Amino acid sequence: AAGIMAGKKGLIMGVANERSIAWGITQALKEQGADLAFTYQGDALKKRVEPLAQSIGSDIVLPCDVTDQASIDAVFDTLEEKWGKIDFVLHGIAYSDKSELKGRYVDCSRENFLQTLDISCFSFTAVAKRAAAMMNEGGSMLTLTYYGAERVIPHYNVMGVAKAALEASVRYLAEDLGKDGIRVNAMSAGPMKTLAASGIGDFRYILKWNELNSPLRRNTTMEDVGGSGLYLLSPLSSGVTGETHHVDSGFHTVGMKAVDAPDI
Ligand code: NAD
Repeated sequence: AAGIMAGKKGLIMGVANERSIAWGITQALKEQGADLAFTYQGDALKKRVEPLAQSIGSDIVLPCDVTDQASIDAVFDTLEEKWGKIDFVLHGIAYSDKSELKGRYVDCSRENFLQTLDISCFSFTAVAKRAAAMMNEGGSMLTLTYYGAERVIPHYNVMGVAKAALEASVRYLAEDLGKDGIRVNAMSAGPMKTLAASGIGDFRYILKWNELNSPLRRNTTMEDVGGSGLYLLSPLSSGVTGETHHVDSGFHTVGMKAVDAPDI
């Protein structure tokens, strides 16, 4: 295949359906000639992810529940067998109990705090360790985060705490792996209507707020995350690591509701 990703092999984790942010990035990578493998969580999603993978000519589709180290290990053992090396990894995975994505952060349970941090933060570190061991010629890793890590967003709660930890882990991973030519970055996407987002309280209001108050006066699209994801996972961003890159129509730069923005 032609393109800037020709000859490059990468693992995509976190596709649930065609609305997944990971799927938007997948399409941009594929257009540039990348070879891709996918993971899915559980049998229900297998039925969704397999046809999507097939539609772009990928036949490596593996189960992975990141709460289980043996499940992560099995994925990388298989990739080692099939490919021997990899060039990039996309981590688009997060989870918190829906009942705690509304109301007050202070009411978070210990059990859900630990589960949220495990799935939404530690899993990227666990994946990075296995992936780095297969990146003989350097590589790039990307995870997905949200502005709720930096500022308080209604209902984001423990997920905001997990994303703050995730962004900090990106900086530590970038230092650890940089000596081997491996770059580690996060993309902070604006709100997008996906399966995971449907669990967040008043999500439609958050979408509308971002649309009306971001400098570009529109919400983030699949093409937006696709282009920036391709940049961060490809040699185009060869000098960039440890970064949290905002792809949010500029919303994170705004300090106050614009005077001309309508009320909602
Ligand atoms: P999505 O529901 O399409 O993707 C979430 C994925 O996480 C799913 O594929 C799901 O199977 C996977 N997952 C959850 N628990 C798992 C586990 N234990 N093991 C393996 N996989 C597991 O939704 P999305 O919005 O595309 O989410 C992808 C990433 O983008 C998440 O990290 C999310 O926090 C982040 N993000 C989303 C938005 C948004 O508004 N949608 C904005 C910024 C960042």
